[in-house]
Amino acid sequence: MNSDSSPPAGDSGKKRLNLRAAKAVDGDRDLPPWPILVVDDDPQVHGMTAVLLRDFRFKDRGFIPVSAHSAAEARTILENRSDIPVMLLDVVMETDHAGLSLAQVVRQELGNTRLRIILRTGQPGEAPEREVMLSYDINDYRSKTELTAQKLFTALVGALRSWIDIDTIEKLNATLEARVLERTHALAEAQAFSERLVELLPNPLWVKDLAGHYRLYNRAFREFFGIETQSWLGYSAEEVLGRHLPPEELESDCRVLEGSSRREEFETQIPDCSGRNRALLVTKAALPADGVVPNGIIGMAIDISERKNLERELRRLATMDPLTGIANRRHFTALAHQEIERAHRYDLPLSVIMLDVDFFKTVNDSWGHAIGDELLKALTATMAEQLREVDVLGRMGGEEFAVFLPQTSLEGATQLAERLRTAVAALHLPVVEGGLRTTISLGVTTRLEGETLFDHLLSRADRAMYQAKQMGRNRVTAESGQ
Ligand code: GH3
Ligand code: MG
Ligand code: MG
Repeated sequence: MNSDSSPPAGDSGKKRLNLRAAKAVDGDRDLPPWPILVVDDDPQVHGMTAVLLRDFRFKDRGFIPVSAHSAAEARTILENRSDIPVMLLDVVMETDHAGLSLAQVVRQELGNTRLRIILRTGQPGEAPEREVMLSYDINDYRSKTELTAQKLFTALVGALRSWIDIDTIEKLNATLEARVLERTHALAEAQAFSERLVELLPNPLWVKDLAGHYRLYNRAFREFFGIETQSWLGYSAEEVLGRHLPPEELESDCRVLEGSSRREEFETQIPDCSGRNRALLVTKAALPADGVVPNGIIGMAIDISERKNLERELRRLATMDPLTGIANRRHFTALAHQEIERAHRYDLPLSVIMLDVDFFKTVNDSWGHAIGDELLKALTATMAEQLREVDVLGRMGGEEFAVFLPQTSLEGATQLAERLRTAVAALHLPVVEGGLRTTISLGVTTRLEGETLFDHLLSRADRAMYQAKQMGRNRVTAESGQ
């Protein structure tokens, strides 16, 4: 016998009382007794059972009989009470099989699978078939004569134990089910939240699987590519973007998936749904998070077209003279430095022309600054027409210009200078009455052997130009520097 159960009757009664007194001092509440449903049409059985139960205790709880004198009465009780763990059931009552029928009702109609059923019968021949025991889940079978106090107690304790086990499991199941339900709900909520977030993102976002097929994309992605009815899901970028697919797209996917790069970032250009080329900053990462064998790729693109245009415009403004559209002094000098380096490395000729508009002050003074500007623009365009692709024309300031001529000898540069002078002299601007004419004075020089400082060439060309001015203007003077 277990320590949590006490034997029926006998001398331990006093001890038990002491124990209970001690517990009461401890402030423990008395637990309600175990209700045992006794179903029997024999009132004597009820009386006897009640007497026996009075002395039983199990897990600090006494026993109390709940009496039913027929199967019908028992059914009503069971329909209204779910706290009864054990039923002591007579077989023959209003009918020969009233007990067994009740067992069937309990299991099948009332759906009560927890109740432990102990069949008690007066006649050994009334024992039910094994199949019936199994199918109605009858948990014990005893003949009435066999049920002495000790045996009844053992049978009840056995039944109570399995009832407690079932009860515990059912309660655990119920909490487990509640927790699973709660978690499922939380998961569904988290998923709905992230789906909403992805959908609302202003940047195109997509997910591809290991085969490179699109598995998900958001509204911004659909809008960028104009995906309306025909889905891209299940297709690869090659299939849907065709010749517009930038090579970085697949290369970066490979690097992310083979783990050589956890995160890829690159700038690329892809035409949007209107066919306009958009500059995109693309970021990609493996899915799921780091450290796990990837099963896909997540990518996001930021449209940086505006920033790129702005950068281009800023670069243009920083390098270009706003009036004439040619290289400004700084840009011209930078390019010239690169060119002289190259000329030095490969021992190539390089020549420079400096030129200045003659009596330009008079133009301004006679016709105003705006006409002066027009003249500067016109003569820049005229000169540019005379130059090759590789020649660079720059505005050095005011009405002073310079040209550097890669792979050109002093002789070639002097010839070109002469062509420039003639072209400008032939210019006739119909901006004022009678037309506006002008001339330029030019100085030419060439790179000396081993010379690597462009400033030296510039000052020689400047000197030559000054000479041209002094010699009466509208002319070309060359200075070889030797
Ligand atoms: P020289 O033949 O000796 O070169 O005489 P010049 O009058 O051309 O030379 P000077 O240096 O005396 O005058 C240059 C003038 O160019 C003075 C300046 O106001 C004018 N100028 C400089 N930059 C601009 C410009 O962007 N637009 C206009 N309209 N005039 C300019
Ligand atoms: Mg001048
Ligand atoms: Mg000047």
